[in-house]
Amino acid sequence: MYGQNHLIQQLRTSSLGREDAVFAQIPGGGTVSFGALFAGAERMAAALAAKGVQPGDRVAVQVAKTIQAIELYLGTVMAGGVFLPLNTAYTAPEVAYFIGDATPRAVVCDPAREDETRDISGAAELLTLDAAGQGSLRDLADAQSGFEVVARAEADLAAILYTSGTTGRSKGAMLSHGNLASNSLTLRDYWRFTDADVLIHALPIFHTHGLFVATNVALFAGAQVVFLPGFDAEAILDAMPRATALMGVPTFYTRLLQDTRLDRARAANMRLFISGSAPLLVDTHEQWEARTGHRILERYGMTETNMSTSNPYEGERRAGTVGFPLPGVEARVMKDSTEVPAGEIGVLEVRGPNVFQGYWKMPEKTAEELRPVGWFITGDMAKLDGDGYVTIVGREKDLVITGGFNVYPKEVEGLIDDLPGVLESAVIGVPHPDFGEAVVAVVVPGAEGTSADAVAGALSGQLAKFKQPKHVVLVDALPRNTMGKVQKKALREDYAGMFSA
Ligand code: AMP
Repeated sequence: MYGQNHLIQQLRTSSLGREDAVFAQIPGGGTVSFGALFAGAERMAAALAAKGVQPGDRVAVQVAKTIQAIELYLGTVMAGGVFLPLNTAYTAPEVAYFIGDATPRAVVCDPAREDETRDISGAAELLTLDAAGQGSLRDLADAQSGFEVVARAEADLAAILYTSGTTGRSKGAMLSHGNLASNSLTLRDYWRFTDADVLIHALPIFHTHGLFVATNVALFAGAQVVFLPGFDAEAILDAMPRATALMGVPTFYTRLLQDTRLDRARAANMRLFISGSAPLLVDTHEQWEARTGHRILERYGMTETNMSTSNPYEGERRAGTVGFPLPGVEARVMKDSTEVPAGEIGVLEVRGPNVFQGYWKMPEKTAEELRPVGWFITGDMAKLDGDGYVTIVGREKDLVITGGFNVYPKEVEGLIDDLPGVLESAVIGVPHPDFGEAVVAVVVPGAEGTSADAVAGALSGQLAKFKQPKHVVLVDALPRNTMGKVQKKALREDYAGMFSA
């Protein structure tokens, strides 16, 4: 009955006939079977259709992470709609931009924010869903019975995800049924997910990592998830002995390492720890192996491309790299419109069935970043080793140009992070009257402590003068967003006046 809907049909295949098998364990809240999940999704689809959602209509959603929110995602796609999840941290003025831009047919928000959301929802139908999975949408869904899943083809849109927008306005990345299905299938097989897996799901579901990588891969495999509302070291460690896999951002791993209960015995049933969405420090990789016996598998992707590269399941998981282009995905490193030789740094471009359909209502932006022949210009600086491993060295816009010379922050950060008494660092470019930009290192000391002079002194013998920080600042912590990405734009703003007269 799902046969005509490209994505839903594939999300359902592994669990068909296994209606009573457990999809989600909800710590302290029982279990949800595959049958119940898809029945719930059909009722959500029927509720949306009753509110006028037609194929191609956007459904904007800013709600807590619940099973009903997953049903809403599936239900939107079943109804032929385009799922548009929004970070729960966005304020009303921010949400107003997304609603104005995407003109959704329906908006679903937390009941506590119903009034402020109504003010910005325009002509959209407003529905609610709370952190317990209750609200007007749930009530309407519970009153429905059965739904004829709407036919959708590979090229039809399934979702629009707004990019985190670290510069300029946030752009809506249009993802088709084919983009999502092809990537989930590839990842399931590359990472060997089966219906014997139990995945600890502690990521937010408004972002590509938790929504597509974690949720879709589990559904494609017919695997179970331990469904946690958010990161909780205690709950993850509790779940580990009965789980087989964890998908996390690097901060998951650094925080779990701080807990003395993490050891080999606790991780003995686990087969796979995956990290992505931000760079995993080599140090974290090594500490994790020493403590658990597992080498974290790091992969790389972005909202626009789903996942593009991954370290191998078997074979060397090389710390500090993001592995190989996934099967069916091509990657190349470009400088001045030509591909650079192995080992040289340039801008990474990727091509494949994973690459999005363009930016919603921004044809010029799309044309700037997506070449007509399908190559997407990621904006990440990278190098490709002779043996095929890709290393990401940072965002192009984070590149520091000082006195006309390029400085790749990661090179300097890597050296600083290796110094005794340093936990981590971020290297940024700050306006400078002589050099245009000056290299500034923002450093978080470790337990033993360090000083700005010690950091600067240690680097002087190791780096060309122009790469050495003109100033070292010590801070307690680096600013990060929910996905663990260091907010370099915020740092640049904080220190913008440092060298002005
Ligand atoms: P987003 O669209 O929010 O998923 O952000 C995508 C960006 O995160 C990429 O363009 C990279 O800059 C960064 N990113 C994702 N995974 C990794 C990784 N494993 N290592 C380094 N950067 C990463």
